[in-house]
Amino acid sequence: MNNYNVIVIGGGASGLLCAIELLNGANALLGKDVLILEGNDRVAKKLVATGNGQGNLTNAVLSQENYFGDSNFIRTFLAQEKEIDLKSYLYSLGIPLCEGVEGKMYPISKQANAVCDILRFTLSQKDCNILTGKKVTEVKKSSSGFTVCCGDEKFIASNVVIATGGSAGGHFGTDGSSYALCEKLGHTKTKLYPSLVQIKTELPLIRGLKGLKEVARVTAFDGDKKLKSAVGDLLFTEYGISGNAVFKVSGLLAQAKNPSVKIEFLPSLDEIQLETILLNRENNQCFYGDNAYLGLLSKRVGQAVYKTIDKQKITARDLCFAVKNFRLKVTGTLGFNNAQVTKGGIRTNEINEKTYESKLVNSLYLTGELLDIDGDCGGYNLTFAFVSGIVSAKSIKSKIKG
Ligand SMILES: Cc1cc2nc3c(=O)[nH]c(=O)nc-3n(C[C@H](O)[C@H](O)[C@H](O)COP(=O)(O)OP(=O)(O)OC[C@H]3O[C@@H](n4cnc5c(N)ncnc54)[C@H](O)[C@@H]3O)c2cc1C
Repeated sequence: MNNYNVIVIGGGASGLLCAIELLNGANALLGKDVLILEGNDRVAKKLVATGNGQGNLTNAVLSQENYFGDSNFIRTFLAQEKEIDLKSYLYSLGIPLCEGVEGKMYPISKQANAVCDILRFTLSQKDCNILTGKKVTEVKKSSSGFTVCCGDEKFIASNVVIATGGSAGGHFGTDGSSYALCEKLGHTKTKLYPSLVQIKTELPLIRGLKGLKEVARVTAFDGDKKLKSAVGDLLFTEYGISGNAVFKVSGLLAQAKNPSVKIEFLPSLDEIQLETILLNRENNQCFYGDNAYLGLLSKRVGQAVYKTIDKQKITARDLCFAVKNFRLKVTGTLGFNNAQVTKGGIRTNEINEKTYESKLVNSLYLTGELLDIDGDCGGYNLTFAFVSGIVSAKSIKSKIKG
């Protein structure tokens, strides 16, 4: 049985950056001292699919409002990101970035699979041990270190990093089963919800709109309580709504007891501007009924909005109100399998935010999506995964080599 200084469980975004940092820079360990155990037949399967295959790796602007979870923990993480300077860090690995809309940062090649190859090549150049097809079933702590079990096969290590991701995107190897590894070691988790996910809604109002896309401001509600608004693409589907704006509020809708959305079409026109346009048409019979929103909304969306006005004599004010207050009851989400990220996870009060070391088990580190921190759509989740992996590695190195 080989003895390793560090075993990293999970060869995803966080685990790979952790291993690279262990083997790089100040106090670097040797490749033979580090083992990555990955359950899939290859590492970084999810990373390849990120940003629609383009890899939205981080964002030009990172702030507290983009993250959900313990605010002190997030503040510390943002300070760590600044110190590491993730964009420069990636550049130093041979991954220069370019900026897209909303500050989204991509590899200049816009190819997530190239990023994965670069990370793999970096590790192979350092002779890092990577074993794929090794799903870890248990981690046992003893006085001398850790025994990491993959069924009957056992590996020994002085330090263990669990970077096994969350429950989202199960087909990428993250079906949520690895929370149990942490729970067996005494950790606890919060309730889990899918986030950055498509939303199911009541259907009668939007039947026939499948495939139509509008720009809209989408506001999530729990009963009468307004939760969050987001502006962006809104796509009508056979089950409800999807698109950027919907993704941004989806996690809060998943958590809500009585969820609904208010859709405000034409967000670039305020109510006065829109009402003026509609008033100018008021005396022209051609703009009635199906043509009420001609030139403003796509025809079928306009018809659906018009149907919500329940009046004999319809004024420009009524038409305007309907465009800005299109309400839909939410009936659910498309679930973890379709979600990009998990809201909730291992409780962060059980983790030292400066090092990512467990407060319950010495020399055990927990990083990435596994923890109860999640981010908005826009590169925020990979940023947390990368930075927490790097910081855990720095902590391990300074402990070993001081
Ligand atoms: C389709 C899709 C697109 C996305 N796009 C973006 C984007 O553009 N930008 C962004 O910021 N975020 C995006 N995300 C979210 C982002 O990919 C994740 O938040 C991030 O990858 C989490 O990193 P992680 O290392 O914590 O976990 P993962 O990257 O999920 O890696 C965990 C690894 O651990 C392995 N594993 C799990 N259990 C075990 C076990 N028991 N033993 C051994 N190995 C195990 C898994 O196979 C996996 O390889 C996207 C997610 C999806 C699903």
